Amino acid sequence: MTPFEFLLPYSLEEALSLLDLEDPGIRPVGGGTAVMLMMKAGVLLPTRLVSLQRIGERHARVERQVDGTLVIGGMARLADIEAHPSVREGWPLLAQALRGVANPRVRAVATIGGNLSHADPHMDMPPVMAALGAQVVVTSANGSRTVGADALCTGYYETVLRRDELITELRVPPQAGPGYYLKLTTRAAHDWPALGLAVVLGGMQGDRVAHASLLTGAATDSPTRLRQAEAVVQQRGLGEAALREAADAAVAEAPLVGDAHGSVAYKRQLLRVSLPRAIQNAVNRNRSHA
Ligand SMILES: Cc1cc2nc3c(=O)[nH]c(=O)nc-3n(C[C@H](O)[C@H](O)[C@H](O)COP(=O)(O)OP(=O)(O)OC[C@H]3O[C@@H](n4cnc5c(N)ncnc54)[C@H](O)[C@@H]3O)c2cc1C
Repeated sequence: MTPFEFLLPYSLEEALSLLDLEDPGIRPVGGGTAVMLMMKAGVLLPTRLVSLQRIGERHARVERQVDGTLVIGGMARLADIEAHPSVREGWPLLAQALRGVANPRVRAVATIGGNLSHADPHMDMPPVMAALGAQVVVTSANGSRTVGADALCTGYYETVLRRDELITELRVPPQAGPGYYLKLTTRAAHDWPALGLAVVLGGMQGDRVAHASLLTGAATDSPTRLRQAEAVVQQRGLGEAALREAADAAVAEAPLVGDAHGSVAYKRQLLRVSLPRAIQNAVNRNRSHA
């Protein structure tokens, strides 16, 4: 292994000062679950790793604010978010999706900042956070800016993050209605998805929906909002024929890509069959909690 520096700063300011906009060899490390795998595979050869472990405690809070927003620190561990009572009560989609990410050992160390920054298209959290309308707070030594979760990942392992920036916080509005994350794997249930579908049905009354939020992951290079399918659901409701039409629209608009989990033709069929199922699962969750 090529030698590298491993630095453990005590404050966010110190961590930010150790990053460098111009140097691709310098990387922050949250839980390290993805970084270590990339290093072992030889696809990442860092000159310096900046661990966020010691600053984690101050930037790992999970808290519902008085205005109803859920605030999650960028270094919060996936397991802590899933177990938080406010998340389980107010953001059931998030809790349900987190339970299916990797396995308990990974969730106990992986951070939400690392999960969103990694931008492997198979990550489960980016489409879920986008469906929830989350805002991502990104900080550098020059200050902070906010990016919509649906604009964070721009392509295969690509994000809008600069090399000197860290994800420091997520701000998630109240879940607008029933939601569901359908994760389809070709092997074990907790494996990487061949297709991920995140659904939130806002303003649902009977079989009408005022605002549908439908995102796909894993079958596209980055999380993709299915705008035409959303429009069909909003105009035609939740009947069987309408959901079939929404699935056809989704298949027509999604820029599907094949990978080790299945060809484009396979993913097309998965999407066609799964979109109505994911929406129906969200509806059923609403009924069972009514
Ligand atoms: C066996 C196994 C199975 C898995 N299965 C799944 C799965 O089914 N679904 C799924 O979604 N994921 C899965 N994963 C991936 C796992 O969720 C990610 O590795 C993890 O979420 C990354 O978080 P981390 O804190 O460990 O990131 P790290 O490994 O520390 O970092 C990942 C990337 O993010 C950058 N980074 C880290 N923190 C920040 C920050 N705060 N701001 C900016 N950049 C940052 C790093 O520089 C690096 O580029 C699996 C992983 C393993 C090992």
